[in-house]
Amino acid sequence: MFRRARIKLTAWYLAIIMAISISFSVVIFVGINRELSRFSVLIHLRQDRANQINLFLRNNGLPTPPEIQTADLESVEEARSRIISILGLINLSILILAGSGGYFLAGRTLEPIRKNMEDQKEFVSNASHELRTPLTALTSEIEVALRDRKMTAKESRGLLKSNLEEVKKMSKLSNYLLKLNRYETGRELPKTDVDLKEVVLRAISKQKVKTELTKAVVNGNEDALIELVSILLDNAFKYGNGKEIVIRTKKEGFLEIEDHGIGISKDEIPHIFDRFYRSDKSRGADGYGLGLSIAKSIVDLHGGTINVESKLGKGTKFTVKI
Ligand code: ADP
Repeated sequence: MFRRARIKLTAWYLAIIMAISISFSVVIFVGINRELSRFSVLIHLRQDRANQINLFLRNNGLPTPPEIQTADLESVEEARSRIISILGLINLSILILAGSGGYFLAGRTLEPIRKNMEDQKEFVSNASHELRTPLTALTSEIEVALRDRKMTAKESRGLLKSNLEEVKKMSKLSNYLLKLNRYETGRELPKTDVDLKEVVLRAISKQKVKTELTKAVVNGNEDALIELVSILLDNAFKYGNGKEIVIRTKKEGFLEIEDHGIGISKDEIPHIFDRFYRSDKSRGADGYGLGLSIAKSIVDLHGGTINVESKLGKGTKFTVKI
């Protein structure tokens, strides 16, 4: 599909360049041709006059001057056809150069679109895969229960409880997907002056966290920023080994969340913001690998940055600058 689009785009580039080049060639040729025609008229006039003078001299028995070689009409014709071939050659070279250059440029232009489509495909396949697991569990549990005619009320309640767990997992996933879609589509969020200190206080609510907060007013969307802090905090709890968690705000618009848990290895750090990425160590904890992608989209929508410093087995610190 992309090959065809690339060829089409190249054809468009080529058509535009050739239209310009041919129009210039036509203008140049018309100009030069007009000069050549004027020149051949001049040659005609000169030759006529020379003939008349020679005739007059001969009639009066006077010696005629030796014939002076002037440009003849043949060489004018030759010049005209040479100009046509030169212009043709120039146009052919432009066609070849513009064709190969255009093909290269079309490839460069389409590359981000191709990459985006690949990402989308991978995303849909990952999301369907994540949904299939709880759906399969639900289907088999329900089928087994329907075949069991002697099921007691207690067993039925147990089954419903387990079904509810699976439904909750799916609704959590769909919630994540909706949020990701909302923040990744890049639509402008309404922004006001927001104090990061208040954002943190609202996000932590009753959770046990050490805070070092100063007033830090930034231009942002309060709900999205609360979402961001909640995601980072949620991870600090999930991967923090129950050890102390510290949240700091700094008046320049900085926010830090530090834990002393399992940490992230160096080679995993570049991937943690990818959609559906989960490290092997975190498989036990619940999650879909979407939290940090949502966090990154929120930071991007605020034109900010998010950085991570981590040591395996020692802990992790996320720093957000809005
Ligand atoms: P999830 O937590 O649902 O797996 P996230 O996108 O929030 O997904 O995080 C991606 C991965 O980054 C996690 O699976 C985990 O391996 C790693 N990670 C994120 N935060 C921390 C943290 N505070 N400590 C250690 N690892 C972390």
